[in-house]
Amino acid sequence: MPLIAVLAGDGIGPEVTAEARRVLEALGLDLSFEEAPVGGAGYLATGRPLPPETLALAKRSDAVLFGAVGDPRFEALERRLRPEAALLGLRRELGLFANIRPASIFPGLEDASPLRPEIVRNLDIVIVRELTGDVYFGEKGRRETHEGLRQGYDWMSYDEREVERIAIVGFEMAKRRKRKLCSVDKANVLETSQLWRDVVNGLAGDYPEVELTHMYVDNAAMQLVRNPTQFDVIVTGNLFGDILSDQASMCAGSIGMLPSASLNAWTGTVGMYEPIHGSAPDIAGQGKANPCAAVLSAAMLLRHSLSDEASAQRVEKAVAGALAAGFRTADLGGSHTTSEMGDAILKALA
Ligand code: NAD
Repeated sequence: MPLIAVLAGDGIGPEVTAEARRVLEALGLDLSFEEAPVGGAGYLATGRPLPPETLALAKRSDAVLFGAVGDPRFEALERRLRPEAALLGLRRELGLFANIRPASIFPGLEDASPLRPEIVRNLDIVIVRELTGDVYFGEKGRRETHEGLRQGYDWMSYDEREVERIAIVGFEMAKRRKRKLCSVDKANVLETSQLWRDVVNGLAGDYPEVELTHMYVDNAAMQLVRNPTQFDVIVTGNLFGDILSDQASMCAGSIGMLPSASLNAWTGTVGMYEPIHGSAPDIAGQGKANPCAAVLSAAMLLRHSLSDEASAQRVEKAVAGALAAGFRTADLGGSHTTSEMGDAILKALA
């Protein structure tokens, strides 16, 4: 029986994760669930944001359903004790190198995007972002120039194995969708990007059914605003993906609608599934949080870690059904509570 580790975390994390778990349970699948504290909750319970027991549970589980971490009470702690350190620890320990962020718009929510409805209608993009390499993980530091000026530096690099494994995730994702893969880099300026492009081109022969294009990151940023529906799957490095995936999330309206998956391989993966939003301390405990992103993260869990596409689609259709029935939390301009939205999703599922 697949084991799901439920790490709900802080703020609205427990509120939205509870709704996602209710939906998974309602599917009638043979799943077991085990909860453990993480983030501020982990620190309160054990003095560490990622308690060893929580990490052990994540490692022996088939998938991690994650809420959010972050608690203003712990902002002054040293970095390794802050709630957010748990996320980096889990990514590193589980080897989660591929971050998958779909940005699609549900019919009827076009007005929630700051872009004009005709620009975002039918938006359906997946951004595949490399998560454990690039300039974020290279050597970094401070030094003095020969003129005695303070200088900061961060070393950007990718080796071909790192590029190949994330490119494979991009190609496989595209193969299952509209078969268009756009690789985003800055190969006109960066040697790291030129290697990236060479490796991605080298794999194209293995995927003749996928149309591969390349785009410079500055143009990609512009195209995401000008004509976002031209994209199907985007694959890119850690730095460019960080920025572009946040930008794409705005095309889709509320942050409360967007799920994500972090994987350690394309198949047979232990994945971590979480809404892209944080712990939202400003609305925590008030029943205002939109649980859709968490529920859609559960759908991604079914798809990627349990290979249950049919159940994943059932959940996604149930979210669409609840929205079509007029249910809206405050971030979508409505007044339904977190649990009312959850009830509506369960009703649509039935
Ligand atoms: P946030 O995503 O928590 O909130 C940003 C804004 O969006 C807030 O106004 C919030 O009320 C709203 N919002 C977020 N999720 C919502 C939902 N489901 N429904 C309705 N409204 C929602 O980002 P922030 O305020 O920058 O960060 C708050 C805390 O979360 C910080 O401690 C930060 O470090 C942490 N954080 C954690 C993660 C994570 O766990 N993956 C991600 C981002 C931020």
